[in-house]
Amino acid sequence: MNSYSIAVLPGDGIGKEVTEPCVDLMHLVCARIGGLKLTTQTLPAGANTYQQTGNALPDSTVQQARAADAILLAAMGDPAIRYPDGTEITPQIDLRFILGLYAGVRPVRSIPGVPVPLADKRAADIDFVLVRESIEGLFAPNAVGTLTNDSVATETLVITREVSEKLFNATFGLWEKRRKTGRGTNRVTCIDKANVFGAFAFFRKIFYEVASQYEAPSEHAYVDAMAMHLLTRPWEYDVMVTENMFGDILSDQAAALVGGMGYAPSADIGDKHAVFQPCHGSAPDIAGKGLANPTAMFLSGAMLLDWLADKHDDNNARKAADLIERAVFAAFADGKLRTCELGGDSGLFDVTNAVSSAAKNLSI
Ligand code: ATP
Repeated sequence: MNSYSIAVLPGDGIGKEVTEPCVDLMHLVCARIGGLKLTTQTLPAGANTYQQTGNALPDSTVQQARAADAILLAAMGDPAIRYPDGTEITPQIDLRFILGLYAGVRPVRSIPGVPVPLADKRAADIDFVLVRESIEGLFAPNAVGTLTNDSVATETLVITREVSEKLFNATFGLWEKRRKTGRGTNRVTCIDKANVFGAFAFFRKIFYEVASQYEAPSEHAYVDAMAMHLLTRPWEYDVMVTENMFGDILSDQAAALVGGMGYAPSADIGDKHAVFQPCHGSAPDIAGKGLANPTAMFLSGAMLLDWLADKHDDNNARKAADLIERAVFAAFADGKLRTCELGGDSGLFDVTNAVSSAAKNLSI
């Protein structure tokens, strides 16, 4: 029996609401598959923790997260609770820097039964991964912006060879993994703005250096063109990789293609540690109303188990991840669940019940 310790950081708003159903689902699938066990430890962090203690990310939380086999994080932040300089509280971003989580892996996949905004029937085939560099670019912590005399503001975009090489190796590794499972059939696309910025020309140069070591067909695209291609032919893409800020923006657009933020899981992966969390924020507008869609959280839980499976060569963890994915697909298959992002009234409990019941009943 393999046993894994999972640090659980529910955070704020709907983050707290989607956490418990996800942890329950993960225990459920592990019990059904057998041969693996999760021990979970809930840790404080986020805007409410800041309000109560003056520290959004306590040292003890970081220590325990670091010691865990994997970290499950829901959503953090609240526009009503801010630092004295007016910025929002984002310990989830701090954790990426602290743990060196350079690869933000964001799978985007249409779920049959969930309506998509594009009318073209090929939208049902959307299945790509956007890899967002997550510790430098325009978010680099060592590139503090300036404001001079209330007249000139600057920000700095940082691209390093070390992080870019690791990022691209992770990206091509992902392509190889998808190809093994019959999904990595297409190509790897580097998204940049190398025609205008030297930093992006450097980013692209390193991309092709790393690409030369892999079999995957590779190409590049400008971010502005990609914003259009994502709307006109997203089904043609397979694995894409980009800088932090571009990835932040494009991943919200990508989530919209398959139903909205409630359907978009993610993983932030480094050399040693990994955090799994839905792409959405704490959504204060719907918090406390039972409307939160837990699907992105469930799929993030599946990504966590799949990552443990790779790391520990654990076939039971892979089966548990697969069972969550199949349960999500089964729950939405008849098209009756309609979550609030899509104008329906299926809420947290409806989606949780449908997915849990599929996870209990599907064959393994
Ligand atoms: P952030 O600014 O940190 O990204 P946010 O919560 O303000 O966080 P998003 O996560 O981008 O913003 O979400 C935008 C809107 O999408 C939310 O205000 C909410 O209405 C909706 N939304 C987000 N996640 C979900 C979800 N899981 N279920 C249902 N609706 C959601």
